[in-house]
Amino acid sequence: MIVLKFGGSSVASATAMSRVLDIVEQAAAKDRVILVSSAISGCTDALLQIGRAEDPEHLIDDLEHRHLAIISRLFTGKERQEAAGDCRSTFSEIRCIPPVIESFGELLSTRILARKLSCEGYKTAWLDSRDLVTVRDSQVDTAASYEAIRSAIEEHPEARIFVVPGFIARDSDGGVTTLGRGGSDYSASLFAAATEADDLQIWTDVPGIMTTNPKLVNAARTIPEISYKAAFDMARYGAKVLYAPAVAPAREKGIAIKILNTFDPQNPGTVISSNCSLIGEWKGVASLDDPLSQSSEITLVAEGPVNPEAAARRITGALKDAGIKALDQVRCEDGTNFFITVRTNVARNAVAALHREFFEERALSALEVYIAGNGAVGKALKSIVDACGGSFPSAGKRIEIKEISSDHAFVDRVLQTARSRSVFVDCTDSTEIWHKFIDLFNAGINVVSSNRRSLAIPYVDYAALKAAAAQNGCFFRYDTTVGNALPILQSVSDGASCGDGLTRIEAVVSCTLNHIITSYDGARSESFATLLRKAQEDGLTEQDPRTDLGGGDALRKLLILAREAGVPLEEKDVEIVPMLGKEYFSGSLDDFYRRLEENEPLFIRREDELDAIGMRQRFVATLERNADGSFKADIRMKLVGIDSPFYWITGTENVTVIHSSEAYPLVIKGSGEGPRLAASGIIRNILQ
Ligand code: ADP
Ligand code: ASP
Ligand code: MG
Repeated sequence: MIVLKFGGSSVASATAMSRVLDIVEQAAAKDRVILVSSAISGCTDALLQIGRAEDPEHLIDDLEHRHLAIISRLFTGKERQEAAGDCRSTFSEIRCIPPVIESFGELLSTRILARKLSCEGYKTAWLDSRDLVTVRDSQVDTAASYEAIRSAIEEHPEARIFVVPGFIARDSDGGVTTLGRGGSDYSASLFAAATEADDLQIWTDVPGIMTTNPKLVNAARTIPEISYKAAFDMARYGAKVLYAPAVAPAREKGIAIKILNTFDPQNPGTVISSNCSLIGEWKGVASLDDPLSQSSEITLVAEGPVNPEAAARRITGALKDAGIKALDQVRCEDGTNFFITVRTNVARNAVAALHREFFEERALSALEVYIAGNGAVGKALKSIVDACGGSFPSAGKRIEIKEISSDHAFVDRVLQTARSRSVFVDCTDSTEIWHKFIDLFNAGINVVSSNRRSLAIPYVDYAALKAAAAQNGCFFRYDTTVGNALPILQSVSDGASCGDGLTRIEAVVSCTLNHIITSYDGARSESFATLLRKAQEDGLTEQDPRTDLGGGDALRKLLILAREAGVPLEEKDVEIVPMLGKEYFSGSLDDFYRRLEENEPLFIRREDELDAIGMRQRFVATLERNADGSFKADIRMKLVGIDSPFYWITGTENVTVIHSSEAYPLVIKGSGEGPRLAASGIIRNILQ
């Protein structure tokens, strides 16, 4: 069974009804159909007005005329006469102003639709929902109603299409009643649940549940998928497109509800089902006016866990930016719905402001950027941006550097002053700054980092940063932490997310070590100790160059690479074999250099031996998938021959080789060093 429900605007005229008939006929070609219809648009309001008016005659005439006009367009000859007679007799009842006068609209519209379908040759049965849907103590008695619906269907084994008035029902005293304004959606859901329908489609005048009412905000867009819970919340807090009680019957029977547009039937609209986003996802903004207090309650609805403090800050910030004063604090219900009250005269602007903040890609005319770290990379970044006046036309964006600072308290200042959607750039070498990243994301601030120490942190912390960024719709990019401006991380994450995934990554990514290893030619020009001392003086090494030789930097890069490949690697999982023995790593720096000089003959001999067999040694970080799917990681000196991509490396070049079971290895090679290159990589991350 397929249940199709059409709202008032879908049946507002003969033209609209013809579209409805097309849709129904297509469904009837596949399965039996229950067509639930509302009254023609404005009819229920008009009937209520008639019920209240002192002299309702002209209102009744107008309404009758609208129905007769539809009839005369849809039917000819005898059919037209019969349909018009039927309509007039209903209007003579209406003229007596019966109780529950608003129940007549659905009778009128469905009789027209049923007659038309019969005329077109469909075996059609009109069912009176007043005899099928029972309301007891203001609640639908589902057991009794489902039973009645099922027997009514069984009584018409020949029928292909059932036509049913929405909205109306009978109470336990036998009097006619309704399911509440907008109640036809509920009728449809009840009929779908009773018949365990395969499909429940609610056809209306918009393409689904949208991020907000498109009549209030032009930029509203369709929500393709939403959970029953979030749809229910959107509906009960003001999204009129769906009547909230309609969710439960379908949900209880596990029937997905589709919201579709009668005027754009190909549009996939919204599917409401039990699928629920696992990470926090904002779904929409709804609003309800309270005419008595002239205030409006605006609700932001999320699905999955969102951070309440961050949400509250963004809501308050967005309203403040729009110059709107809220009447109270942001309130939160079960971690997913956020409420704020404003005066009704600014409600529309408030909805628009919140929609902009949470659902619209802002025309990023200017990206406000805060740079932490006024060292070589920070300075290069500023000079590149200054040189082009901040304008990057090919990306369609402008970068506005608000401040650059090496001050430790800078990040706190940014947190207090920066606007949501600004970008915080971490060009420091701080081991602490990442602790503030979650606060930045919670404030809606994006983060770009070239600081490996902000990423090579315990996996749980790394995962928490990523989740906080996603939850707040912020970006968190750090491509320059491995291989500088080379597209290594991007390639690894692409590789990991496609096909069979990665089998092995090998990387020679420590610029300092590369430089030293590749410059050393067995003391024909300079001794190993001299080369290292020079590198130290040129600022290429850490303050104590043994940190580099110990593989610490390579370790950080390997952690970042592995995690990008989806492997939750920790420091302790990596086996590091430093390029020099243990004895070098204790004692003072002077002792260290003395020991190196003493052992120079050993290095020369080793170099000569390698030359003789045509091999070179490289310090390689490797992540490899074992047969059982687990991964092993190590960093050690490896001998490579002329056929290895690692053989020909000079200076500070980096080489990363990504092996996957699907493709030939991907080799990424290029300069991995230099503040201007890092800065250009950062700019790419900001604009991306
Ligand atoms: P129908 O007569 O088809 O039942 P309704 O008028 O009851 O239609 O509901 C559709 C209307 O709901 C739309 O025209 C739109 O103005 C309004 N609406 C309010 N909030 C939303 C939303 N979030 N998404 C889509 N429509 C919405
Ligand atoms: N006609 C009723 C109303 O306007 C029911 C509906 O359209 O869903 O409220
Ligand atoms: Mg409706």
